[in-house]
Amino acid sequence: MTARKRAAPRRRVYFFGAGRADGRSSMRETLGGKGANLAEMTRIGLPVPPGFTLSTEVCAEFEASGGRIRKRLEPEVARALARVERIMGARFGDPACPLLVSVRSGARVSMPGMMDTVLNLGLNDRTVEGLAAQADARFAWDSYRRFVQMYGDVVLGVSMERFEHRLDSLKERRRVHLDTDLRADDWRALVREYLALVEEHTGEPFPQDPSAQLWGAIAAVFRSWKTPRAVTYRRLNRIPEDWGTAVNVQSMVFGNRGDDCATGVAFTRDPSTGAKVFYGEYLKNAQGEDVVAGIRTPQPLAREGRSPEQANLPTLEEEMPGAYRELLRIRRVLEQHYRDMQDIEFTIQAGHLWMLQTRSGKRTARAAVKIAVDMAREGLITREQAIARVDADALEQLLHPTLDPEASKQVIAKGLPASPGAANGTVVFSADSAEAKAKAGEKVVLVRVETSPEDIHGMHAAEGILTARGGMTSHAAVVARGMGKSCVVGCGALQISYERGEFRVDDQIVRAGDEITIDGSTGEVILGRVATVTPELGREFAELMRWSDAVRRLEVRTNADTPHDAKVAREFGAQGIGLCRTEHMFFEEERILAVREMILATDEAQRAPALEKLLPMQRGDFVGIFRAMEGLPVTIRLLDPPLHEFLPHEEEGIREVAEALGAEVAAVRARIEERREFNPMLGHRGCRLGITFPEIYRMQVRAIAEAACQVAESGVKVRPEIMIPLVSHVGELERLRKLVEQEVGRVVAQSRARVKIAIGTMIEVPRASLVADEIARYADFFSFGTNDMTQMTYALSRDDAGKFLPAYIEAGILTDDPFVSIDRDGIGALVRIGVERGRKTRPDLKVGICGEHGGDPKSVRFCDEAGLDYVSCSPFRVPVARLAAAQAALASRGRKRTRRAGR
Ligand code: PEP
Ligand code: MG
Repeated sequence: MTARKRAAPRRRVYFFGAGRADGRSSMRETLGGKGANLAEMTRIGLPVPPGFTLSTEVCAEFEASGGRIRKRLEPEVARALARVERIMGARFGDPACPLLVSVRSGARVSMPGMMDTVLNLGLNDRTVEGLAAQADARFAWDSYRRFVQMYGDVVLGVSMERFEHRLDSLKERRRVHLDTDLRADDWRALVREYLALVEEHTGEPFPQDPSAQLWGAIAAVFRSWKTPRAVTYRRLNRIPEDWGTAVNVQSMVFGNRGDDCATGVAFTRDPSTGAKVFYGEYLKNAQGEDVVAGIRTPQPLAREGRSPEQANLPTLEEEMPGAYRELLRIRRVLEQHYRDMQDIEFTIQAGHLWMLQTRSGKRTARAAVKIAVDMAREGLITREQAIARVDADALEQLLHPTLDPEASKQVIAKGLPASPGAANGTVVFSADSAEAKAKAGEKVVLVRVETSPEDIHGMHAAEGILTARGGMTSHAAVVARGMGKSCVVGCGALQISYERGEFRVDDQIVRAGDEITIDGSTGEVILGRVATVTPELGREFAELMRWSDAVRRLEVRTNADTPHDAKVAREFGAQGIGLCRTEHMFFEEERILAVREMILATDEAQRAPALEKLLPMQRGDFVGIFRAMEGLPVTIRLLDPPLHEFLPHEEEGIREVAEALGAEVAAVRARIEERREFNPMLGHRGCRLGITFPEIYRMQVRAIAEAACQVAESGVKVRPEIMIPLVSHVGELERLRKLVEQEVGRVVAQSRARVKIAIGTMIEVPRASLVADEIARYADFFSFGTNDMTQMTYALSRDDAGKFLPAYIEAGILTDDPFVSIDRDGIGALVRIGVERGRKTRPDLKVGICGEHGGDPKSVRFCDEAGLDYVSCSPFRVPVARLAAAQAALASRGRKRTRRAGR
């Protein structure tokens, strides 16, 4: 019999410490972000307290086995723990020299504060004495009570309030206000109370065996993957349920062991502006949670980069210069190694610096752009990497309005500018009320003393977030920055009363429902609603756009219907108009009557005067647009929507039209009734209007051609393109092309200017894609109308989908709203067919997209892959599309390289 080779059992516990680590930063799927980076920092020689990581696969095992993993994992954990003990020169459970550990979660991507943590684990009635002998009794008993409290809450389910209640009553009995006024004996007495409380609540004594404590904590952290708040967070951030969390067990180091101890968090560059300053906060004699919880106001790391509010606080640079220098060195090492801005956590114990975490730092869009461009200039990354690194979708944040500097404003308080941009809305004091009001369509600003992970849904719903407590790295600040929401934190002047539903600043009272404005760039809190203006974009933004333009293949146009929008879009870099919807021009006050006359006329003779009135107005619109675009292509779509959209419904409107037409009110009403359709989106619209009312299209074509000639004659170049909507049969386009050519010919023949007008069609009906080879015989260009294409292919009403589509996303049937991000499998397939068949007939066919997808990065990538020539999107999305197009081009080069290498 041949010996069968057994596969080596997969490693599930990954050690790190003293310069060696089983893992590395690329293993975040297995080790979670925190574990992977602890391993990496250890490898590159940074001071990391030793420990080990239980992999994310164990999380799945934990779930599958109903939590029974201890037996299987015990040998591996024991080996790793023994290595930690050797390095630390302490033993787990040793009464003389106890090793204490922290047990923390760590998923692949950061889920700030969503899962559980236990600190100081390993303390019991005996080891506390050992710790007291090493440090001091007060510290030891305080640590023990913190442990019992945390373990009791997280692992044993005794609510935090019960513990806090005991602490408060102890302070009352001792007549002190602050924890720091309590002495060792007080803490010892409190520990006794806590232990009794746990026993009373659980029916069992508090576990004294450190191993039992450890396995209890590991189980609790794995379980916390499934808590409702973590599930909500994952749903909002589209984090897959099956990723699971890793668990990190790491030896404790203490920032709260005296005045030569501290704990802090820092960003290697400013996460708000991207400036290259070391940006962080610390607290002396404190544990890490004290900084993040925002209970004490943290001090700045350095003089450079501190805010005016922090100007009087001593810095780490001044208080602990040695540790600060070491931190500066590590900052450099980390940026050189990771080649990205890092968000770090550190602890200083007895003057010695320890690194507890590093990860790529969350940043505002503005900071993302500046950091990427600066790092490319510094040679840390390439230009291509800089392009790939900025989230194209987030760019839009940069383009959003800030407070109008001219507007008067009544600033009532000032806090820390935690996340830029201005927001206004009515005040709400709870996350639930923020969510409810936002659902009802109200803009709200969420005002809290501080926020916690429980508030996530409310923060998501609010326009902006304002807190009375906390620093720049508090929960509110970090989460809001990630969401791209305006946020002001640590506004100490606010006296908030949830009970009364109000906050006060001196004599000023602001109640729930009152309007306020906050400015996340300055920290100002302002009474009432303040006007806003479009911001100026920084030099780095322009640079990134230039680099993107040099890389991308796709042209970026805009959807604009007015000269103003056209100008805005050009400033954002639009290379033309991909869609000018002429119907929007029809709704203006002085025009709508003529439009109604045109629609409700009984015959051509009655329609003619209305068209005569509209012609000069339309011509004026196009002159303005051609001038604004100065020779860039302008695609104008002929009338598209169902006519009934323009009809009057109120008595007065009907009477007005009757008067203008010289008809009876009853007759007009009857005609309105005739125009009513059961299914207007599939009804009398698009090119069907051109077939049945050719004089409407003729008037529009004439207006376009006359405007083009007029502008060209004045010496400005024009490139008009006329686009026929909703074509489904080649016959429609054949006929309408002839109409357009005739009309254009007539106008151009009378002009000095030699204007050329391209004629193309929208491809938005699925059938049009399938017969694109025939349609291309009469089209100079195609523009995919993926809004209608999605509606028709999915049989999903654009106007009603909001009622049920969210349920599809929630249930996971769809990952994206198909009206936002193109459905590659269905609509995408039709687009590919349309492109391929169209170009078979006409290899030089120009192809673009003008549905909303044109400004969505994922869809832009699809368009690049499908070989389109351009995307067209709303003006504010133009920079997004430029960057997304560059990212798509880089990704496609990458794919080609991989294919070549694979050959
Ligand atoms: C489309 O259908 O994608 C399109 C651009 O046209 P509209 O949104 O005006 O129907
Ligand atoms: Mg359409």
